[in-house]
Amino acid sequence: MSSRLITTDVLVIGGGLAGERCAIEAAAAGHDALILSLVPPRRSHSCAAQGGMQAALGNCVKAEGDNPTIHFLDTVRGSDWGADQEVATIFAEEAPIAVRELAHYGVPWTRVRGGKNKYFIKGQEVEIDEPLENDGLITHRDFGGTAKWRACYAAAGTGHAALYAVDSEVVRLGITVRDRTEAVSLIHDGTRCTGAIVRDLRDGSYFAVMARATVIATGGYGRIYGQYTSNAVINEGTGASIALDTGIVPLGNMEAVQFHPTTLSPSGILVTEGCRGDGGYLLDKNMNRFMVEAEPEKQELASRDVVSRHMAQCMRDGNGVDSPYGPHLWLDIRHLGEEHLRTKLLEVWDICRDFVGRNPAKDLIPVRPTQHYSMGGVRVNKDGQAYGLLGLYAVGEAACWDMHGFNRLGGNSLAETLVSGRLIGARVAEYASGVSLRSDTGIAFDALEAAEQKARSWLARSGNGPSIYEIRDAMGETMMHKVGIFRTGTELAEAVLELGQLLDDCDNAVLRCKDPGVNPELAFALRLKGMLRLAMTVAKGAAARTESRGAHYRTDFPLRNDRDWMNRTLVRWGAEESEPTFSYEPTGIVDLPPGHRGYGSDERIEMTEPLEAYNETVHAEQSRHGRLETVEAMGSRLRRGAWQSVSR
Ligand SMILES: Cc1cc2nc3c(=O)[nH]c(=O)nc-3n(C[C@H](O)[C@H](O)[C@H](O)COP(=O)(O)OP(=O)(O)OC[C@H]3O[C@@H](n4cnc5c(N)ncnc54)[C@H](O)[C@@H]3O)c2cc1C
Repeated sequence: MSSRLITTDVLVIGGGLAGERCAIEAAAAGHDALILSLVPPRRSHSCAAQGGMQAALGNCVKAEGDNPTIHFLDTVRGSDWGADQEVATIFAEEAPIAVRELAHYGVPWTRVRGGKNKYFIKGQEVEIDEPLENDGLITHRDFGGTAKWRACYAAAGTGHAALYAVDSEVVRLGITVRDRTEAVSLIHDGTRCTGAIVRDLRDGSYFAVMARATVIATGGYGRIYGQYTSNAVINEGTGASIALDTGIVPLGNMEAVQFHPTTLSPSGILVTEGCRGDGGYLLDKNMNRFMVEAEPEKQELASRDVVSRHMAQCMRDGNGVDSPYGPHLWLDIRHLGEEHLRTKLLEVWDICRDFVGRNPAKDLIPVRPTQHYSMGGVRVNKDGQAYGLLGLYAVGEAACWDMHGFNRLGGNSLAETLVSGRLIGARVAEYASGVSLRSDTGIAFDALEAAEQKARSWLARSGNGPSIYEIRDAMGETMMHKVGIFRTGTELAEAVLELGQLLDDCDNAVLRCKDPGVNPELAFALRLKGMLRLAMTVAKGAAARTESRGAHYRTDFPLRNDRDWMNRTLVRWGAEESEPTFSYEPTGIVDLPPGHRGYGSDERIEMTEPLEAYNETVHAEQSRHGRLETVEAMGSRLRRGAWQSVSR
C-alpha cells in the first residue's frame, strides 16, 4: 500500500462533538475509525458552546411536567414548521439519554440545590423551593422558545465540558485522530463514496483515505459572513463545500442562517442565551426594555430569530447606542449578582472582562445580533445518509438532518451532535459491516492528482490579481448587509451579482506567498471558491424563497406562506458547473399542523392542501429528490397525535 493511500473502515471528517460521538459508535461496533480535524479535536468549535444542552429531564420546579413531546412541540414551533417532524421526535426522545451519557463520560453538570433558590424570571426576583428529594439531580435553566426550563448546563462552559469528556472517550478507545489535516474532496464514482482526499496542513502534502463509509462532521459555514459571526475561523463550511462539488449530493435549506441576538460588540464573541435564561434583559439607548412591549409573553426569551429581528429593528429606529463600530444595544445581567455570574455564568464573566474590559456585575454589556448557526447543510435522511451517494453520511451542524428547519432553538445543537452522533454512528457501523473495502483505487489516485494540480495552479499564478483576503472580506460585507437579518429581493439580487463578481475575482486572485508547504494563504485560497459557492447558494436560495420563515425574513414577503412553501430547498452544484440547480422537496411527514409559534407574528398564509394529501406525497417526492431508503420505514418513529395530550 502506498503511503499516499491509506484505508480505514469508517472515515470521520471532523473532530467536534458530532464527529467524535459518531466515531465512538463505529469503534464500539468493532470498526477501525479514523478522525480528521483541522485542529486538535479539543479546539473544535463545539468547545465554544456555552449555555446549555436541551433535554427533557424535568428535574427542577420550573421543568416539572416536561417530557419529550413538549420538547418536540417547542422544536417544531421554533423551526417555524420547517423541521422534519419525525427527526424532531427522535431527537427529543433521545436527548435525555445523551445528557446522562455525558454525565457518565464525566461532564460536571450543574445540579439542583434542594431548598430555597433565588431566580430571576421576566425581570422579577422569585424564590422557589426545590424539593429536597431532587437535590443533586441535573438541573435546568430557561432558554428561548421553550415551554419549560430544559437546558442542562455546566456553568457557561457546556461545550468545553462535553467536548473534553467525549474526546477522553475517543482517547480511551484508541481511535486514531489525524489533526491538522483537511479533507479537500470526496472520492466517489457517481453512486458510492469511498473516502476523501486529504491535505496535511503541516507540510502541504496530499493523501487519499479509502473507507467503507465516510462521515462529514465539519460543523457550520458561519465564516462566509466574514467578521460578522460568532463562529471560529475554522467554520468555513468545507464539508458542505466538498459535498456540493460532487454535483450529486444536495445541500438543504442553505438560506436558513441563524443570527444570535447577543454577541459582544464589536468582536462578535458570543454572550450566551443563558444570560437571558437566567433573567438578564435587553435595553435600548434610553434604558428601555423594548422586548417587553415587542413580545409581552416571552419577552427576551422568544426564539432567536424573533429577538434578533426586534433588536435589529430597534437599532434601525435609531434606538441603538452609538459606538465607533456602529450601533449596539445593552444586555443587563447586573442584578443576577456577582456570585451567580462567577459560578453559573463564569465564562461570560471572563469574556466580558477579557474582551471589553467590563465587570458584568456592575457594567452593562454591549451586544448586537451576529451570524451564529447554519441550519442548512448536507441533506441527509433520518439515518444520516446523504442524498444520492451510498456510503456518505453527515452529522451535526454540517448536516441538514433536519430538526431545526428555519430556526434552531438554543441548546438544541449540542443535543443534536450527541444524539445524531450516536444514532447515525450506529447506522454507519451497520453499513460499514455490510460493504467491502474493495474499490477502484484509480478513482482515488485521479482525485488525488486533481487536488494536487489545484494547489499547483494557485501557486503558478502571477501578476497583480486581487488578494484572497480582500475577496473574503468583500464576501462577508455582502452577506451581512444583503443576506442578513432582513432581506429584500432587490438586495438579494445585488448580493448574487456581487458574489458572482467575487467568484470571477477568485479565478484571478494571486497569492503573495508561493510556498507549497506550510502556507496559510494557500490553505485559505484552496477553500475560498468553495466558500463563495456556499454563499451563492445562500443568496440564491433566499432570493427564490418568497416568504418569511424562521430566520429567513423577507421584508417584501413578510408572511410565512404554508400554502406554497411547506418545503425544503435543495441545491446541487457540481464543481465544473457554472450555475447551481435548485429544487424543492416536502419538509417531511407533518404531524403537528402548521400554526402559531406562540411568539412573533401570528399572521401567515394558511396551507390549503389537506395534510393527509400532503403527507401521501412525502415518500415518493423525497425519493425522487435523491433520498435513500432508511433502515426503518419513513414515519415509523413519529408519535402521531401525541402532542394533543400535552398541556403547555
Ligand atoms: C460561541 C458559540 C456558542 C454556542 N453555544 C451553544 C450552546 O450553548 N448550546 C448549543 O446547543 N449549541 C451551541 N452552539 C452551537 C454548537 O456549539 C455547534 O453547533 C456544535 O458544537 C457543532 O458541533 P459539530 O461537531 O457539528 O461541529 P464542530 O464542533 O464545529 O466541529 C467541526 C470539526 O470539523 C473539523 N473540520 C472542518 N472542516 C474540515 C475538513 N475539511 N477536514 C477535516 N476536518 C474538518 C474541525 O477541525 C472540527 O474538528 C454554540 C455555537 C457557538 C458558535
